Amino acid sequence: MQTRQIANQTIAFHCYNTVVVGAGAAGMNCAVHLCDFLEQKGITKPAERIAVITAGLGLGASRMSGSDKQTYYKIGTSPDIADSAEEFAKSLTAAGCCHGDLSLAEAIGSLREFYHLVQAGVPFPTDSMGTFIGYKTDHDPFERATSAGPKTSRFMSECLQRQLARYGVKIHDGQELVHLLTVGSGKTKRIAGVVTIDKSRLSDSSLAVSVFLAANIVLAAGGPGELYKTSVYPKGQLGIHGLAFKAGLTGANLTESQFGLASTKFRWNVSGTYMQAVPRLFSTDAGGKDEKEFLTGFFPTMSKMATNIFLKGYQWPFDPQRIEKLQSSLIDVLVFNETQKGRRVFMDFLHNPIGSDSMDEFDIEALEPEAKQYLQKAGALQKTPIERLAHMNPPAIEIYKENGIDLYSEPLEIAVCAQHNNGGFAVDKWWQSNVPQTFVIGEMAGTHGVKRPGGSALNAGQTGGLRAAEYIANVCGGELPDYSKAQAEIDRQLGDIVKRLGQHRNSSGPAPKQVLEEIRSRMTASGGHIRELNDAKKALKDAVTLYKNIQQKGLNAKDGQALLEAIQAEHLTLTSVAYLKAVVELLAQGSGSRGSHLVLSQDGVEIHADVIDQATGKPLKFKPENQSLRSSILQIEYDEGLPDLFRSTTVNVRPTPKDRKAFEPAWQDYREGKIYSSV
Ligand SMILES: Cc1cc2nc3c(=O)[nH]c(=O)nc-3n(C[C@H](O)[C@H](O)[C@H](O)COP(=O)(O)OP(=O)(O)OC[C@H]3O[C@@H](n4cnc5c(N)ncnc54)[C@H](O)[C@@H]3O)c2cc1C
Repeated sequence: MQTRQIANQTIAFHCYNTVVVGAGAAGMNCAVHLCDFLEQKGITKPAERIAVITAGLGLGASRMSGSDKQTYYKIGTSPDIADSAEEFAKSLTAAGCCHGDLSLAEAIGSLREFYHLVQAGVPFPTDSMGTFIGYKTDHDPFERATSAGPKTSRFMSECLQRQLARYGVKIHDGQELVHLLTVGSGKTKRIAGVVTIDKSRLSDSSLAVSVFLAANIVLAAGGPGELYKTSVYPKGQLGIHGLAFKAGLTGANLTESQFGLASTKFRWNVSGTYMQAVPRLFSTDAGGKDEKEFLTGFFPTMSKMATNIFLKGYQWPFDPQRIEKLQSSLIDVLVFNETQKGRRVFMDFLHNPIGSDSMDEFDIEALEPEAKQYLQKAGALQKTPIERLAHMNPPAIEIYKENGIDLYSEPLEIAVCAQHNNGGFAVDKWWQSNVPQTFVIGEMAGTHGVKRPGGSALNAGQTGGLRAAEYIANVCGGELPDYSKAQAEIDRQLGDIVKRLGQHRNSSGPAPKQVLEEIRSRMTASGGHIRELNDAKKALKDAVTLYKNIQQKGLNAKDGQALLEAIQAEHLTLTSVAYLKAVVELLAQGSGSRGSHLVLSQDGVEIHADVIDQATGKPLKFKPENQSLRSSILQIEYDEGLPDLFRSTTVNVRPTPKDRKAFEPAWQDYREGKIYSSV
């Protein structure tokens, strides 16, 4: 480490071959593989050439998020049901807008990465013969889903971190990203390093700026969780999308986020057994009074209502194609409907669903066959939901207990929350972005299509990291970079950053907290699971105005904490512009309702005669999906000269590769490194 004085600040400079931003399951895995690959290439101390940088080791979705049994989706390992990579890739691309080469790579890498996690110590359960036991999500016949319990992704990150510690890779913790340093332009443009503020050293006299230069950059900073007000992303999961857009990375499929029912006091998905236990759902007024069985008016029988509550377990994400004709996503609409009226919605595990006067009492025997047979097979025929949940999945109760909520004595408040972004940044089949030697993995990579099978995010994060590490070691090499010729360019950017931070300290612009609140409210209202073109256009305009205002005036950040929030607010504002621009462009293409969002339209399909549009007093109507758009992907690039700050383009989905070579020619390609082409 060296230090230099720039703009009256002492700046620490580190230099590595590869810097991985993010210490979640994806980033950790990539760093481990890179150590392995570099060692195999003859580099004796690979750990000295790699660094992981994170705003907080304990932060991020991998460490802090989960569900009743957090799912890892891999190729089926059942002893008697054959699966194949092609079949797996088909499941990933089924709902469209998903590149075939990426899905095949995720399929082929699936078992290798799964067994890597097993070796690392993740406790995926086996039977007495050593079979890794799987279960079905959404009728997948291959039982591809498996789980190490509610905290699968946390175990993954922790086990991989132990592997990294054995190598001795340095993790720079507490580093808030401020900027991605770029050098060159056009085809020679590179990201030369990342600039951070060391949160533990930030003071009135020092901005604690550090620079991590690297030949290769791996961005694994997760999804933009803090973008939404109603969110199950863990608090503090910000991401770095705005910074990556500014550095020239292209976004893809940003419109395709996943939303679903989650608890809000402790942010956790209420999927799987939480719903399969068939709890009572009720609403209250804002003060917790005036309990109401709000679902009863919308379902003709107790059987239908209770079966749909059950089905929400494995039909978890809100899905506009599962609303009509009393399907399970009607529940999400009704929960949202209640919260829109200012009411609160709760799950009550002490009581079975309560019906209206015209309904029968709850009876497991009267559930529709799918639900009844599942509960019979699971032996979950106990009298109350809490007993059924305790029977099927005691850790699902314990996780709430650990977080101060006793499901035996209190109801669980829920809402329809933002949970995952299927989109992110565009990558090639080696997870390299449009900027050479910058790779994007994990949730930050936009590799999923409109829908993804539950659990495939974790698989994608692992396989993407493996691919990036393999490419870096074999194509980019393990050397340290020399940016001496670009020193002036780097110093200029660092000078600008210091000046900008100083501007925030002296600004009378808006307070960062207020800006963050504004962004979140706007995104949940206009870029969430319910969308409408004119409303989205207005939201985009407001977001652009906010961004330009911040550029002009800065943010009012007098102390260290406020300065960190100012940095976050500034790049999150740009992120919100990018997401809203993508939403507007897709709606303008006539996309309709797809994935996990509903598009409202006056001439659309009625959701339910009793679900009323508050604005018109008439039944709410939605536009069905325009399936012709399934073969294309909407991309977004930052261009500060444009009125909306972003340019949108549409690319065709890349097909799933079909070429299979005989062993000898394939071996030759491998020996000669021809396999590392980007197409
Ligand atoms: C409630 C919930 C349940 C889920 N359940 C499942 C499931 O069952 N199956 C499945 O496949 N997926 C699931 N997901 C999605 C999955 O957990 C995530 O997509 C995945 O863990 C993301 O991993 P990652 O390594 O890409 O990013 P993360 O784990 O989010 O890590 C991001 C890292 O980047 C760092 N970082 C972020 N912003 C900054 C910044 N500004 N400066 C510096 N560092 C920064 C963070 O500190 C962290 O180290 C779930 C998600 C949620 C929220």
